Amino acid sequence: MARLEIRQVSKIFTDHTAVSDVSLTVNDGEFLVLLGPSGCGKSTLLRMIAGLELPTYGDIVIGDRVATRLQPKDRNIAMVFQNYALYPHLTVYENIAFPLRVRGTNSKVVDEKVQWAASLVGLNKLLKRKPRQMSGGERQRTALARSLVRDPDVFLLDEPLSNLDAKLRHSAREELRQFQDRVGVTSVYVTHDQVEAMGLGDRIVVMQSGTVRQIGSPEEIYLHPADTFVATFMGSPPMNLVPQGDIILGFRPENFLPESNFASGSEITRIAFRMHRVEYLGGDRLLYGHVSGNLPETPVIARIPSSVAYAPVVGSEVPFAVATSDLRRFDTASGKALPITGSFSERRVAHV
Ligand code: ATP
Repeated sequence: MARLEIRQVSKIFTDHTAVSDVSLTVNDGEFLVLLGPSGCGKSTLLRMIAGLELPTYGDIVIGDRVATRLQPKDRNIAMVFQNYALYPHLTVYENIAFPLRVRGTNSKVVDEKVQWAASLVGLNKLLKRKPRQMSGGERQRTALARSLVRDPDVFLLDEPLSNLDAKLRHSAREELRQFQDRVGVTSVYVTHDQVEAMGLGDRIVVMQSGTVRQIGSPEEIYLHPADTFVATFMGSPPMNLVPQGDIILGFRPENFLPESNFASGSEITRIAFRMHRVEYLGGDRLLYGHVSGNLPETPVIARIPSSVAYAPVVGSEVPFAVATSDLRRFDTASGKALPITGSFSERRVAHV
């Protein structure tokens, strides 16, 4: 296990800057997620950590060693891609044993390590199978076990769940997190899926156009986005943004509720809402519409739990509100979050 440090790293491909001046630290045993839209540079950053790309500027430090110019094989890292690349003609046992066989490790040690890694990922009963006789999730676990037998200092995972179906993806995510909790290997995980990032990461790095927009725990990033990009990238539906002069007001759909849902005396900000359409999602309803009244007409979404009795009225203006403590403000010119003023927390009494 080791701490990983990225120091002012940039990668410029001829005329294109894929990663621009990124600095971050992954603590020993931490599970860090690199999250961002397609093309934001997350895979390039991961490939530089792996040693598959050389940074144009900056350094990569693994443990106590500057690893920037080390060959991938000398970094003691393990990488799991979305394409697991298992050997189809080998059993699960031999697939897991492969990195050890290549090193000429003696068979007794190979057997101990394969059994250890297979039990960590729950594959003991499948060791005689071939990859084609297994589900996508089981293959993914085989790839993880194969990486584990090498006792890596750092685990790098590039969208390893992306070719699983939605249900399997959910259980594989759960398994991956349990596995990480057990082995505690420093891990960097790349995804463009914010739900996956929230569920897996101790901390999330949100990237856009090769730069880091925010680093924080899932809660920090969701509740206190650093800018309008993060505010709209995290959350589904995204945070509502309503321009108001030189600032932009931001509020999450689940915090935007009929005024009658707030206790009298609670500190709220009233926002008139005109609804066009209701979408029923089972546990919640999404109300699509726009703000009206004295704010510029802007499309917004409210999310109301189905358990809350509310008969939405299409087309007419309805008094909605947001607890003032749930309101965020962003600078219009820079998009950056403005400090939250005042202390509202004790008086927050929204009912739903
Ligand atoms: P995705 O989620 O689609 O995999 P990503 O965030 O991982 O995207 P990268 O693969 O890191 O993005 O690519 C970042 C940018 O760098 C992209 O605009 C890509 O076109 C560019 N890029 C990546 N590799 C090269 C290369 N070898 N030569 C030139 N440009 C490249």
